[in-house]
Amino acid sequence: MDIHEFQAKDMLKRFGVQVPRGGIAYSPEQAVYRASELSGDKWVVKAQIHSGARGKAGGVKICKSEKEISEAASWMLGRMLVTHQTGPQGKMVSRLYVEEATDIAQEIYLGFVMDRKEERVVVVASGQGGMEIEEISSQEPESIIRSVVDPAVGMQSFQAREIAFSLGLDAALIPQAVKTIIGCYKMMEETDANMVEINPLVVTGSGEIMALDAKVSFDDNALFRRPEISELRDKSQEDPRETFASDRGLSYIGLEGEIGCIVNGAGLAMATLDMIKMAGGEPANFLDVGGGASPDRVLMSFQAVLNDPNVEAILVNIFAGINRCDWIAEGVIRAVKELELTMPLVVRLSGTNVEEGKRLIAESGLPIHTAETLADAADLVVRAWSDIKSNSAKGAA
Ligand code: GDP
Ligand code: MN
Repeated sequence: MDIHEFQAKDMLKRFGVQVPRGGIAYSPEQAVYRASELSGDKWVVKAQIHSGARGKAGGVKICKSEKEISEAASWMLGRMLVTHQTGPQGKMVSRLYVEEATDIAQEIYLGFVMDRKEERVVVVASGQGGMEIEEISSQEPESIIRSVVDPAVGMQSFQAREIAFSLGLDAALIPQAVKTIIGCYKMMEETDANMVEINPLVVTGSGEIMALDAKVSFDDNALFRRPEISELRDKSQEDPRETFASDRGLSYIGLEGEIGCIVNGAGLAMATLDMIKMAGGEPANFLDVGGGASPDRVLMSFQAVLNDPNVEAILVNIFAGINRCDWIAEGVIRAVKELELTMPLVVRLSGTNVEEGKRLIAESGLPIHTAETLADAADLVVRAWSDIKSNSAKGAA
């Protein structure tokens, strides 16, 4: 789960990381008022969306007058802001964060991520942070600092000091940098975050260290024990197809194609997407129903897949170990009846209770195609889909 910049900064502050003063605004008028509450003569108006790279998309504006603030706010609010991270549809800006502007002497990149190979948190840092960090990491990968944290002891001050020195920071800035690095790590640990990224962390003209931007995401599997984090969720920033599924405990990822997929196990789901592509089709989603899926859960999976208006055919592929093919079949039959499914549907079942599952489908008398192997199933669904495609093209001609 992702949160907004202002929420991340609020948290960081509680862990001892310095952030600029700021306030939230929902209208241009409110944005001007927020600025008047802050001291100084320069402010930054920032679109709050779940995406980075806002700066290059017009979502971060430095303003020197009320007029500029009001204009920047009017331009941003209500806009689907497209950054190179949002996809072409963009994300809705419904909130702004207005901050006092900071005088920047140096921009640093400071990130904390889970390294799955190391099975540890790794700190990634660079003395040349800011908007060009991607280029720097690809052109001068050796200039990027990496430091793995031992979970038994957590981030120690000597390690934080080492990172701070490798960034080339002035000796006078080291204590503040250490406090920042330890604060970020503590926050990550105590909130079950799986990523904390500060880009840029800046050294100000007056010699302070400050987080000017913050991106934090949390481990969805730990949200049940973090009600205060769940509070921060903003569903308006999510893909509605994924929200529906994740609210029901289904692992679903929306894709761009037309063939809906309902599969058990992430590995088999990936293989199914590959097979659909090899058969000449495009998958509409990844969906793992999980183990021991009840007929209800199968029905819900169909709903999740059908929430995507691009879906024109469905493939169910189950290799039942903990699952039961008869339960899956029951769910499929209920889905066809209750959701009045008319698009092509191919079901491939194997494993536990497969005979019973196949019998239920055969005896249902419903127009459900069945297949023995994954390759056959993928071929069948792509063929059925291209048949209806060419028929509707003929109809239109
Ligand atoms: P992002 O583009 O979504 O990552 O948004 P950021 O919050 O990182 O802002 C983009 C860039 O705007 C930063 O890298 C800074 O260079 C610049 N910026 C943001 N806030 C300030 C500020 O207070 N003062 C100055 N001078 N530049 C800022
Ligand atoms: Mn940034």
